[in-house]
Amino acid sequence: MHHPTDNGKVPAPVGRVWSVVEHQGGELSPVSFELLAEARALADMLQGGGEVCALVLSSEQYCSAESHIDTLAKHGADQVLLACHPALGDYASEPHIEVLTDLCHALSPEIILLASSLDGQDIAARLSLRTGGSLISDCVRLTVNTDGVLEGSKPVLDDHLYAELHCERRPQVATLRPGACEAKPLHTYQKPEVQRIEPVLDSHSGAVSVGEFLPATARNLSILEAERVVAGGAGIKNPHGVRLLEALAESLGACSAASRVLVDLGLMPRDKQVGLSGVVVKPKLYLALGISGAAYHLAGMSESEIIIAVNTDPAAEIFKVADFAAIGDLFEVVPALLERLANQQAPQEASQELLLEAG
Ligand SMILES: Cc1cc2nc3c(=O)[nH]c(=O)nc-3n(C[C@H](O)[C@H](O)[C@H](O)COP(=O)(O)OP(=O)(O)OC[C@H]3O[C@@H](n4cnc5c(N)ncnc54)[C@H](O)[C@@H]3O)c2cc1C
Repeated sequence: MHHPTDNGKVPAPVGRVWSVVEHQGGELSPVSFELLAEARALADMLQGGGEVCALVLSSEQYCSAESHIDTLAKHGADQVLLACHPALGDYASEPHIEVLTDLCHALSPEIILLASSLDGQDIAARLSLRTGGSLISDCVRLTVNTDGVLEGSKPVLDDHLYAELHCERRPQVATLRPGACEAKPLHTYQKPEVQRIEPVLDSHSGAVSVGEFLPATARNLSILEAERVVAGGAGIKNPHGVRLLEALAESLGACSAASRVLVDLGLMPRDKQVGLSGVVVKPKLYLALGISGAAYHLAGMSESEIIIAVNTDPAAEIFKVADFAAIGDLFEVVPALLERLANQQAPQEASQELLLEAG
């Protein structure tokens, strides 16, 4: 094991529950606030109480952003540990896992929470292996029993059952499904203790590095963070329908999404599925194309601010939650909309136009 800092200084003891903060382009990801709320609840369940430490692994530039420290405290962090190194700027597994492993060896946290995102799952699996800890992954609920053992549930077999999981070794590592828990900003909170370390990454070979970030498009924008979502259901029917859906999403600056049927048909990727066994979204605008409005789907989108539904069936359940209804064939409605929107300059303008049209 090497020293966690370049001057050999090991950070002072930090909280029993750690929450690994996700960020991109200098912005904190919403899932980080959900993790902190869960970390706060777990720390309060530990016998004798516990403190929550938010771990921010990042480059020098980001580490100095004091405004984020306040935001982390507001969401439940008692302490903030900033590990700064140029190799921690954009996510690359090797340096992140090396730093976290060293910190765990030095500070022995009891619980470490990460998002069940691509990055979080990557870190969690390797971190638990390297530290000899336990991992429970993709949980939608977490708790601590009276012996301080971390327990969690996760849906399995297409959500027909919940698997109950528990950790057997320490540190107890868990990944939490984004959207499964709510962020709970505190009304009053203390200024957190902030520690800053500069890790040594002497074994960092740089075998994997980030080349460039491609701008978000309808295809790759994160559904959870999108303010506008265009979702398709079985009514989309075929690849031509998917192209129409994505063209509409693109012109609205929206993220494309799907019902489970469309995903099961292999027409959209699984991570685009909205609903009980997919993701829960609350965008400003949710446009549903050829979606019937089954309860399992509604569970993932009914809290959207404005819902517009396009469906041939006037009795479709989706119309019960929709603010605006277009009863018609999406293969006629969407091309007509695209034509109307083609003259709009910006996606923001286009979505306002769409709302006026719907109104
Ligand atoms: C345990 C469990 C978990 C589930 N989890 C989820 C989940 O997370 N997310 C999810 O979405 N579902 C989930 N489901 C499935 C859910 O019950 C429904 O089967 C599914 O949501 C239906 O998808 P759909 O609306 O796309 O298809 P359908 O119910 O088949 O509806 C298609 C709609 O498209 C309309 N339509 C057809 N052609 C056109 C056209 N040309 N133009 C306009 N409209 C048209 C039809 O009138 C119809 O209303 C789950 C089910 C189970 C049992």
